[in-house]
Amino acid sequence: MPLCVRCRAKEAVVYQPHTGDRLCRVCFISDIIARVSREIFRYGMIRYGDRILIGISGGKDSFVLLDILSQIYDPSKLGGVTVVEGIEGYNRVEHLEEIRRSASQRGVDIHVISLKDLWGASVDDMVRASIAKGQRISPCTYCGIHRRKSINLVARELGYDRVATAHNLDDEVQTILINIMRGDIDRLYMNHPLRPRLSKLFIPKIKPLRKIYEWETAKYAYLAGYRPQEVECPYLEHFPSLRVRIRDIVYKIETSRPGTMLKLIEWFDREFNPSKVEKAVKLGECSICGEPTSPGRSICKSCELQLKTLGSARTAFLRPGTSQYGASALLS
Ligand code: SF4
Ligand code: ZN
Ligand code: ZN
Repeated sequence: MPLCVRCRAKEAVVYQPHTGDRLCRVCFISDIIARVSREIFRYGMIRYGDRILIGISGGKDSFVLLDILSQIYDPSKLGGVTVVEGIEGYNRVEHLEEIRRSASQRGVDIHVISLKDLWGASVDDMVRASIAKGQRISPCTYCGIHRRKSINLVARELGYDRVATAHNLDDEVQTILINIMRGDIDRLYMNHPLRPRLSKLFIPKIKPLRKIYEWETAKYAYLAGYRPQEVECPYLEHFPSLRVRIRDIVYKIETSRPGTMLKLIEWFDREFNPSKVEKAVKLGECSICGEPTSPGRSICKSCELQLKTLGSARTAFLRPGTSQYGASALLS
């Protein structure tokens, strides 16, 4: 391997196709941290003193986010949240020790919550109930909606100011293209880092890794010594197929024209800035759980799914004076 083009002292270990640079371990990691810091600063993602809750899945992306934020921000202002979905053979429980170790080495507390404790049904329970009723509800729909709802609840109840998620450039480009293909302009604007806050009940989300390629987060995690046990979710086949098809097409284009994904997200940031839109719709509140719900709906998607599949819906809350979750009021 030739020498690193930045420091010209160490051997290069990474080739970055979008810049054409060959970098050593130290310069590659510094490059990623600098790009993440620039993105945070550019969009004012973090204000001085903010408490940030990081969504931690235990995968490489969330490890990289935790590692970078704990280096560039006060770790005492950071927390992590891990959601146990309750999927046999694929469970955060098995990875929890690794996640806790990584967080505690960086001085970050982790909150662990389980979908079953909060909403009365794990993803597996929901799949069984849905099959028994002859419904065709995707596990990913239940999983995604309730994971987001749970993280928002924890952040709000524990007084965090922002929720940081580990979406990378590949995820963001796929989402932009999906919304364009569906002609869903409202969602497209809502993917911009300057999107308005549609409800005071939603803790604003930030995505500091949105301009970092997935291969870069994988390389960063590897070079930082993180070796998570990669286990695939058995429900992966239910993952939205349009996303998978778009991912494959985008990868082909990126391989022949390196930098395409970065150009696309920069174009999106310029052209779809929500401040150019006249007014944002304010969300109403669900009549069962009190959480925000889309315009024209009296109950939220989560309560609708619970009622349809489980026969009842819950409102979850934090036990007073503790950081324990799971107590819920049942409504049917
Ligand atoms: Fe949840 Fe679907 Fe992802 Fe499995 S593949 S973790 S069910 S969203
Ligand atoms: Zn170097
Ligand atoms: Zn609801």
